[in-house]
Amino acid sequence: MEVIKQASAIREIVQELRCSGKRIGFVPTMGALHEGHLSLLRASAQDNDITICSIFVNPTQFNNAEDYSLYPRTLAQDVELLKTVGCDYVFAPVAQDIYPQQSLLQFSFGPLEAVMEGEHRPGHFNGVATVVGKLFHLVQPHRAYFGQKDLQQVAIVKQLVLGLSFDVELVRYPTLREPDGLALSSRNKRLSPEQRQLAVSLYKALQLAKGLLPLKPVTSIKEAVAAYLQGIDQVQLEYFEIAHPDTLQPLAQAQGEPEVALCIAAFVGEVRLIDNILVNLNEAQIVA
Ligand code: AMP
Repeated sequence: MEVIKQASAIREIVQELRCSGKRIGFVPTMGALHEGHLSLLRASAQDNDITICSIFVNPTQFNNAEDYSLYPRTLAQDVELLKTVGCDYVFAPVAQDIYPQQSLLQFSFGPLEAVMEGEHRPGHFNGVATVVGKLFHLVQPHRAYFGQKDLQQVAIVKQLVLGLSFDVELVRYPTLREPDGLALSSRNKRLSPEQRQLAVSLYKALQLAKGLLPLKPVTSIKEAVAAYLQGIDQVQLEYFEIAHPDTLQPLAQAQGEPEVALCIAAFVGEVRLIDNILVNLNEAQIVA
C-alpha cells in the first residue's frame, strides 16, 4: 500500500492503472477511520482490482470553524488500519493542493439541499459537492462507495454524478453500529464516557418512531420523539424527519409509501451526531 500526498502524483498513478485496464474502487473519507469506513473499503477491495481511499478533512464542508478544528485527525493510525483491508493507495492531500485558491464554485441541488443537513448546515453540501467533484476528477474511479449513515449526502452525490455526467457507479453501503445501536462515527471519539452512553438515544428515538409508524400520524410520532429526547440529559434534538427515501423531502403522512427514511440530528453535549434508518412500511406493520 502506498500513501500519496500530491494531487499530481495520484493523477499519474490513476492514469497508468486505467491504461492497464484496472477497475478502480474509491472510498472518500475524512479519516479517523472506524469499522464503518473499513466495511466500505472491504467492499471496494472485493469488487474492484484497485482500491483507493482518500483521507481529507475538507474545510469547505464545515460550516462551523470549531467543528473543523476539533475534527479528529489520526493519519498514522488510519494508514495502519488501511493496510489490513486490501486498500492499495491512500490519497492524503494537504488543503493547499486541493484548494490552490479560494473555492468560489456554487452548486444548487434544489429542494434536496433545503431540508435536514442542507437546512441546518448552510454551505455544507456545496463543500461536499466541490470536494467530491475534485476527488472524482483526480481519482477517476469506476465505482465509489458511500455510507447510508450520510443518506442525504448519497442523494447529493447522485445528483452531482448525474448533473456533471461523471462516469462513476455509486454504491450505498449500510450503516455499521456499535452493539447497543449507536452508529459508528468519527465524532463519537469526542464524546465523554457518560455522553457515549447517552448518544445511543438517537438510535433509540429512531426505533421508537419505527414502532409508532403503523400506529400514529407523522405529527404525533415527531412529538413522541421530541418528548423522549427532551427527557435525556445533555441531548438536544436538532431535527427528526420522516422523509421520502430518495428525495429526502419530509412526508406529511407515511401511509401509502412503500419505504420511508427516518432521519435524526442531535447534539450530545457539544458533539453533533446524525443517524437514519430506512423502514419498509409493510414490514413495520407486521412487526407492530
Ligand atoms: P466521513 O469520514 O465521515 O466523511 O465518512 C466517509 C464515508 O464513510 C462516508 O461515505 C460515510 O457515509 C461512511 N460512513 C461513516 N460512518 C459510517 C458507518 N457507521 N457505517 C457505514 N459507513 C459509514
